[in-house]
Amino acid sequence: VRATRGGEEVRGYVPSMGQIFLRRFQMVTQFRQALEEGQISVHYQPKVSLPSKQVLGVEALVRWQHPEFGRLDPDEFVPAVEAAGLIGVLTGFVLEQSLIRVRKWMDEGLRIAAAVNLSVRNLADTDFPAKVVEALRKFDVPPELLTFELTESGVMADPQKALPILRELHALGIVLAVDDFGTGYSSLAYLRQLPVDEVKIDKSFVLGMGTDLGDLAVVRSIVELGHSLGLTVVAEGVEEDIARDQLEAMGCDVAQGYLISRPLPEDRLEAWLQARTARSVSRQTEAVLTL
Ligand code: C2E
Ligand code: MG
Ligand code: MG
Ligand code: MG
Repeated sequence: VRATRGGEEVRGYVPSMGQIFLRRFQMVTQFRQALEEGQISVHYQPKVSLPSKQVLGVEALVRWQHPEFGRLDPDEFVPAVEAAGLIGVLTGFVLEQSLIRVRKWMDEGLRIAAAVNLSVRNLADTDFPAKVVEALRKFDVPPELLTFELTESGVMADPQKALPILRELHALGIVLAVDDFGTGYSSLAYLRQLPVDEVKIDKSFVLGMGTDLGDLAVVRSIVELGHSLGLTVVAEGVEEDIARDQLEAMGCDVAQGYLISRPLPEDRLEAWLQARTARSVSRQTEAVLTL
């Protein structure tokens, strides 16, 4: 594609259908090897409680550093991996990495949970709960320090299959969250039928709530709805102080977003956690000194 901007020629790159297909095909065929070669990694984004700002947990978000394509977003490769029947391998990897982190924190005396995103295809695998139990045993992590996030469309795609598996996971003591809430055909009645503990307000509403009264109303009603059903309400996409303050005033329980931290690779997450602990310790000392 060629265009001119201010007399200067600009070349943009728009891939053809064939190129998109080829790229997808390569992702699928290269996925297993990419995993073995360490191109796939997990980043973690903190979830903090409102108003205490205590770190309750992290969400695990998968990344692929591809040698040819550069950094691939999960929105691009997760669907390809799913379609190829490889989602079990991906989820298993993310789950294991996450449990290793939780175990490490437990050994340091920290209680930080990990949230792993599930695909609808995980919920079609009747052996999935048994695999999860085995992973929890392997790393000796209690089920309440593991959350699974699922989108409503994922559950509603095949509720007959998904519901028994969700009930099984929930009975094990694993925390279940509905992700991207408000974007699908979410309804009160439907949320009541699911064995869930947490609802995550989709970031589009949280990002818009400062400027759009409609978004603000949606956020407010999800907080109220969630609480009336006894659920923990999490806001994702918290980028601004104002949004955080508004959410806190509404009684939203947990915040996640760039304002708190971007998703970080494990070494940077450790540094972030340490800096925070050091800050809160020095704040406590200050408080004592000024008494
Ligand atoms: P999600 O589960 O809703 O994750 C939240 C997404 O919002 C992440 O994008 C995160 O980086 C981004 N985000 C967080 N805070 C902010 C913010 O303040 N502002 C904005 N604009 N964005 C923010 P990411 O990492 O690209 O992941 C996209 C989606 O890919 C996830 O949405 C999830 O559905 C899926 N995904 C990621 N990792 C996995 C995985 O391991 N397995 C499966 N099945 N899906 C995954
Ligand atoms: Mg999520
Ligand atoms: Mg989300
Ligand atoms: Mg999403």
